[in-house]
Amino acid sequence: MSKILRMKKRAIFLDRDGTINRDVGYPNSYDMIEIYPYSFDAVRKINASGFLAVIVTNQSGIGRGLIQEKNLLDIHRKMSVDFAKRKARFDGIYYCPHYLKSDFPEYRKDCSCRKPNPGMAKQAVRDLDINTAKSYMIGDKVEDILFGLNIGATPLLLLTGYGRKSLPALRERGIQPVKVAETLLDAVDWILDRENTGRRPKP
Ligand SMILES: [Mg+2]
Ligand SMILES: [Zn+2]
Repeated sequence: MSKILRMKKRAIFLDRDGTINRDVGYPNSYDMIEIYPYSFDAVRKINASGFLAVIVTNQSGIGRGLIQEKNLLDIHRKMSVDFAKRKARFDGIYYCPHYLKSDFPEYRKDCSCRKPNPGMAKQAVRDLDINTAKSYMIGDKVEDILFGLNIGATPLLLLTGYGRKSLPALRERGIQPVKVAETLLDAVDWILDRENTGRRPKP
């Protein structure tokens, strides 16, 4: 049993908008996506570390009729190509298209996959064999931190995107992210430093 557990993979779950790219609301094409310049480096470092890089993104714009699902898939395809050109890779991209008041029955759902619900992580665990308790979650919103806590991962809040608004909102709820980082790259560096420190005994 413990042998099997030890073989499970660890992931760094990543929010998308406001974390990897600028949050511009409901982008409907890759032209509207502005990747933060350091994100390529950050994902490449995750890849080199042995952690899986897994995007978990709420995309209720689909249920709201503002984004077509095929366009979202196209964005993720182009984004993956863009990262691959820079030798960076996502091991999984999960999204929640649902919206409770959607006009479209297929998207009208009080779902279990909208963050902070754990559905996207559960799917990733099934697909990629991840131990969430030894994983991390990086994002800019309150629901990202709650999602991280819900799946037993270590949550980090970024100050990009909605981060500066999320910080006081989290404090009001008495929730403290394990780490507050300026950017995705800072967050990844912090995780990898922390992991190295844990592995090597200090002199
Ligand atoms: Mg976000
Ligand atoms: Zn959903």
